[in-house]
Amino acid sequence: MDVAPRPAWRRALACLIAWLCLSMAPLWAAEPVSLDMQLRLLPGERRLEGSALLKLPASADRRLVIRRSARLASLTVDGQAMRLKRWWRGDLEIRAIPDGARTVEVSWQLDLASTPENTTHRETLGSNGPTAGPAGSFLPAGSYWYPSLQVGQDDQMQRWRVTIEVPTGQRAIVPGRLVEDDADVSRVRTIYRMDVPATGIDLMAGPYVVAERAIESVDGRSLKLRTLFHPRIADLSSDYLDALGRYFKRYEEWIGPYPYDDFSIVSSPTPTGFGMPSLTYLGVDVLRLPFIRDTSLGHEVLHNWWGNGVYPAYGRGNWSEGLTTFMADYTYALDASPDKARDMRVGWLRDLSAIPAGEALALRRFTSRRHGVSAAIGYGKSAMLFVMLRDRIGQAAFDRAIRRFWRQHRFQVADWSQLRAAFEAEAGQALDRFFAQWLDARDLPELRLQAVGDTPKLSQGTGRFDLDVPVRLSSATGNTQRAIHLAGRDVAIPVTPDTTRLTLDPEFRVLRRLGAAEAAPVLREINLAGRASLLLLGDADFATAGATLADRLLDRPARRLPDTAAPGNAPLLVIGPAAAIDAWLLRHAQAPRPANLAERGDVQAWAARLPNGKPMMVVSGASAAAIEAATRPLPHLGPYGWVVIEAGRTVDKGQAESHPQGLALSPRAAQAR
Ligand SMILES: [Zn+2]
Repeated sequence: MDVAPRPAWRRALACLIAWLCLSMAPLWAAEPVSLDMQLRLLPGERRLEGSALLKLPASADRRLVIRRSARLASLTVDGQAMRLKRWWRGDLEIRAIPDGARTVEVSWQLDLASTPENTTHRETLGSNGPTAGPAGSFLPAGSYWYPSLQVGQDDQMQRWRVTIEVPTGQRAIVPGRLVEDDADVSRVRTIYRMDVPATGIDLMAGPYVVAERAIESVDGRSLKLRTLFHPRIADLSSDYLDALGRYFKRYEEWIGPYPYDDFSIVSSPTPTGFGMPSLTYLGVDVLRLPFIRDTSLGHEVLHNWWGNGVYPAYGRGNWSEGLTTFMADYTYALDASPDKARDMRVGWLRDLSAIPAGEALALRRFTSRRHGVSAAIGYGKSAMLFVMLRDRIGQAAFDRAIRRFWRQHRFQVADWSQLRAAFEAEAGQALDRFFAQWLDARDLPELRLQAVGDTPKLSQGTGRFDLDVPVRLSSATGNTQRAIHLAGRDVAIPVTPDTTRLTLDPEFRVLRRLGAAEAAPVLREINLAGRASLLLLGDADFATAGATLADRLLDRPARRLPDTAAPGNAPLLVIGPAAAIDAWLLRHAQAPRPANLAERGDVQAWAARLPNGKPMMVVSGASAAAIEAATRPLPHLGPYGWVVIEAGRTVDKGQAESHPQGLALSPRAAQAR
């Protein structure tokens, strides 16, 4: 799963549960190119006609890049028609621009593929070419549908003025400020400007109903919020505009003024979504989901500060997903209740704990989400770093640092060290060790409470992390909490004589590998613990339906086992008819079907663990058709420990509680202190 071989950055959100934010690794030269484009898009004929004037920054080794299938009608350099040396790379045609040239003018035509229907989210991500159709057109920047400038191998930052004409009934949009909008009987013409350097132009068009609302920004500007929705969801506009208003108020007050003048939510006929400066492009069916405006939309709005406002230095790691997850998803959970926020932390820690020791990626090496493991690191571990950082330096210093970082790096590339510097400056303390251990280590501390003789101790497996670990001391008179500093292999925990019990990190606020007893298994662990084996029980119809389901569920193709096989050592996915599943579990001495699932729905799925700790996911169906119907919802139910599905609809789901590690102290041990 990847996007274009272009270092323009792009994010996408997964359909239902998790955010899927894809990005590539840009290395931008400083001076932006300025583009003035006139476009005519004919979605019905799937054709684009364009002319572009590029004002070039002075530099050596400048190249003009456009999609190979574009037909160039004219090409002039400083007003002179010219034949430029050209070559090809994959889908792209590249031409050398003579040194000293100030402008290039190109006119071209491009035939577009038809916008796919009934695609899955994964397929949408896999395709990157420009597509068009009356229901919706999408020309991603990464497809080089317009002439772009590279210096050496690197894409240049761009400013633009884009005039787009589409037939009546259609509306088109690109990132930037809407400066002009007019229509006559046959066509609609809109002009957009992007006055700050941005990475590339994505163009969207569709049969949109436009709704608009103006709000005042924190620095007194008028911000235009818009929805460009397909008619069938136009009634959702006002709720979405309300939600946008709340997010803009929150983030402007928290961070600083929104960097653009417009923000639009644009609906897409395909089941996916992308984030770009000043707009987000979301599937119609995604927008229909009621929770999107409460969570995912805010995450996407915040990316206008982190990602499209300050750009991550991808070659040195992507901090923007973690900071966005912390300031959006996690903050909304905190708003809801302390328990929701705790559940989110437990979820992150549980995912990280399911990755076998040594197989995780160092957070500094995360650039984009490609599969479950990279998401656990780049979103979960990264967000947890910010939870711990705020615990350590306090809310006030944290918020000042956020504002400082924004002021200093707006529209620039920034890396982890610049983020760290902002926090150090406002917290008045060195944070190099803190950042280094969470960014560079591939493993996590394994914290244990143990009584050594009469002394309760806190230990960590490898003894390499420097931690402040909350420990709760319980006695007959109540609970108190202490932060235990652990820098070496272990440390004694000072207890009062009446302490009867210790609880390790009861609120799950420390990045650490959870013990098996601390984290009940969840379905998505099957994708976190390495390549899975697949066991398909039942007849040929079951096997076919099961193979399709496995393909949708698993990040990597599974190794198929014969249906007589024992569990083995790898993560295991078992799919089959209920009776065969029960018999197989019994034969191989595995825990039986959970009692709360028996006789409910036509598909039950649950997570378990094999004796070696590896995850096992079991999917039990009443029929092959029921398994087939469950193929749609099941991939989105990864955070749960068990689910019940009836005719393709999720009718119940849940997960076992997480219990932090505890240590009972004998009265004698406590007295001895
Ligand atoms: Zn994101």
